[in-house]
Amino acid sequence: GKMSAGAGSINFGISVLHRNSIGIGYVRELLQIPADSASRGSKFFPDRLVQGIRLNGVSFTYPGRERPVLQKLDLHLRPGERVALVGENGAGKSTIVRLLLGLYRPDEGTITADGVDYADIAPESLHKHVSAVFQDYYKFTFTAAQSVALCETATAAHHAIAEAGPERAASSGHRSEDEAEPIRSGIASIERVRSAAARGGAHPFIAELPLGYDTPIGRLFEGSRELSEGQWQRIAISRPFLRDPQLLVLDEPTAALDAKAEADIYEQFVSAAEDRAVLLISHRLGSARLADRIVVLQDGKIVEDGNHEQLLAAGGVYAQMWEVQAGWYR
Ligand code: ADP
Repeated sequence: GKMSAGAGSINFGISVLHRNSIGIGYVRELLQIPADSASRGSKFFPDRLVQGIRLNGVSFTYPGRERPVLQKLDLHLRPGERVALVGENGAGKSTIVRLLLGLYRPDEGTITADGVDYADIAPESLHKHVSAVFQDYYKFTFTAAQSVALCETATAAHHAIAEAGPERAASSGHRSEDEAEPIRSGIASIERVRSAAARGGAHPFIAELPLGYDTPIGRLFEGSRELSEGQWQRIAISRPFLRDPQLLVLDEPTAALDAKAEADIYEQFVSAAEDRAVLLISHRLGSARLADRIVVLQDGKIVEDGNHEQLLAAGGVYAQMWEVQAGWYR
């Protein structure tokens, strides 16, 4: 039960998750593990996206609900392009993210990665290549290294709990040893953690902590360090880089950050993403105006698409949202 980072490896979580009896559905969403119903083929997600990811005429209604959330939606996310998705609460932004992560399957239409249908892609391959940083990211109290490695190690926990992982990990001959290793064992090497933290901009402050990567962070333990909101954000941004995501989704930081800190996080995220496809979910319009393209969602439909200047000039939904919110960014 004691959480410790052994020499050169990060191992934790299975017993912790077991003890707390976190439900599989919750763990799946937390860890962004695709549902078998959405993605269950044996094809690979492309290692380097060329055309990008497309939603083709996607309609979606939550199970047991009547009202469709998305209706015949088309959206193209190209590698190297930063797209911001904006819209009022309830417009369907998070639902699009859940579909992109494979947490749900469209009722109608398809999602494709360089033309390969999500439905034909192995869940592990989708999980490796599509990754989201959520606003309500998890401030678990572990060491700094364990926090960065959260997703990898806890994915192993999920597989152990679901008792689906070992067979799948063992039987899928297509994965390299390097990819299969953390899923099977729950261990991510400290080198990989360090390089992910460097990308996310967390390495400099972690290195300054009393015990470096072995310093307990968060509130729970005596002697552990609480981090600033910006530092937690950097840990959250580091996590996807333990994998090799081709699509990165950033749920815009909370109001706990001021405009300057928010812009810093956006810059860190965008530079870490390099030439990958980036989708920014904007609740406020802070990072939206910095994106290459802004897609405005209203009642599950795309009503505007263009850059900040174009949409302001158009004087539509975006321009109105900007008018209301701009004071925050002046
Ligand atoms: P946004 O992210 O733009 O605020 P969401 O995608 O969260 O919008 O929600 C779109 C619609 O779907 C809303 O009407 C919301 O109430 C509904 N909704 C969201 N999540 C669920 C869910 N898990 N089950 C049922 N309905 C949901």
